[in-house]
Amino acid sequence: MLSDSLILKIMRIKSLKPVEMARYALKNTLFYKKFYKEWDGRSFDTLPVMTKYDLVGVSPYDLLSRQFKDQAYIYAETSGSSGAPTPSFLTRNDFKGLLGVTRLTPYMKEIKKEMGNNRTAVNGLTFGFTIAGTSFGALMQKHGALVAQLGTRSTIATPQRTAETIAKLKPFTISATPLDFMSWMEIIRVDLPSKHDDVIRNLKFLLSTAEPCAFSRKQQIERYFNITHVNTYASVDGLVSIPCPCGEMHLLKEMHYIELFDGQMNRIGEYGTGRLCFTGLIRKSTPMVRYMLDDVVTVKASNCEHGFKKSIMPHGRYELSMELNGKTWGNLDFEDIIYRYGLFMNYTIEVCSDVINIRLEEYPIAKNDYDITGLTREITSLTSLKCIAELLPLGSITDIRKVREAKSVIKVLDLRDCSRQLMPQIL
Ligand SMILES: [Zn+2]
Repeated sequence: MLSDSLILKIMRIKSLKPVEMARYALKNTLFYKKFYKEWDGRSFDTLPVMTKYDLVGVSPYDLLSRQFKDQAYIYAETSGSSGAPTPSFLTRNDFKGLLGVTRLTPYMKEIKKEMGNNRTAVNGLTFGFTIAGTSFGALMQKHGALVAQLGTRSTIATPQRTAETIAKLKPFTISATPLDFMSWMEIIRVDLPSKHDDVIRNLKFLLSTAEPCAFSRKQQIERYFNITHVNTYASVDGLVSIPCPCGEMHLLKEMHYIELFDGQMNRIGEYGTGRLCFTGLIRKSTPMVRYMLDDVVTVKASNCEHGFKKSIMPHGRYELSMELNGKTWGNLDFEDIIYRYGLFMNYTIEVCSDVINIRLEEYPIAKNDYDITGLTREITSLTSLKCIAELLPLGSITDIRKVREAKSVIKVLDLRDCSRQLMPQIL
């Protein structure tokens, strides 16, 4: 297996300049040939920004580079929760490269060490269009794990059935969205009490992606289940961050050129807080150039002890964000405050002109340890709005026994006249 420094060296060699990737895309794909009709091929800064709306009605094959049309071997789509799904093709080398990058997380050493005791992993992310499941499963297998791939093949993996399988296999790692993971663990606790302690004792890691998860929520999950929760911010479009034990998620300059934009689509720069636009610098099979991923993120320089230089923190989707008290609030900004006051199963928030109403859903193993007064006080002090929180029993928002057909995206509703929220077309 390649060493970490060799992986970085290969990336450095393969990495193109942003303008070189734009020229490549123009020359090799039908989509960019039309999209860049006016571009003189000289300056990157004069390129139009591509949004997901530019891709509505476009054939996925128009984004596939003609150079790689015989080599593509994975097709994936974003969940579409942001509007229209963005297509993505990967060649065998792209996929291997992706695994190589994912491997750079310092967590991988801890995971490998644990495999000496128990190497069973349950991959509960395979149900969907993204490549999260495929890559988590392959990554674990590559490092010697025995992987149960649960999803939809001939039978659908219902929450009960998944919980039963977890109870039987007693894995050391589960990959899942936090909401699914917490559902399965609660089903095991209630339906299979004699197996519960054994499952908890064996479990060491939760690997999650796909569902945005605030830092405080990750910390509460770690605390209540006594595990390490490795949460990754990544997207099928090709954005990959590296989760790190230092608490940050890192970016590699060889992989992406990041630009941030403000609400009026003025370019802010490469660091700061703004709407995320990126150019993939390595993967040529589906070139992504000046692609507006459109999450609100903070990008900053990093002093990480593991040697990473840059980090990214997502705040939530721009089109679901809002202005409050002179600040842009994403879904995750609310979530981060909420989970500082306990581990909830789920929540919904309504922002009105004079009050913020929060519905909090209890998670049974954590229900004696909530500080609702502290929570409302903090929200009020940060937003200058009165805050009313209601604690509801499990089941009020989430049906833990039902297969989830949609991502849990719309948690914070802005009901004010000044709202700019755009509801996704597909959930
Ligand atoms: Zn770090």
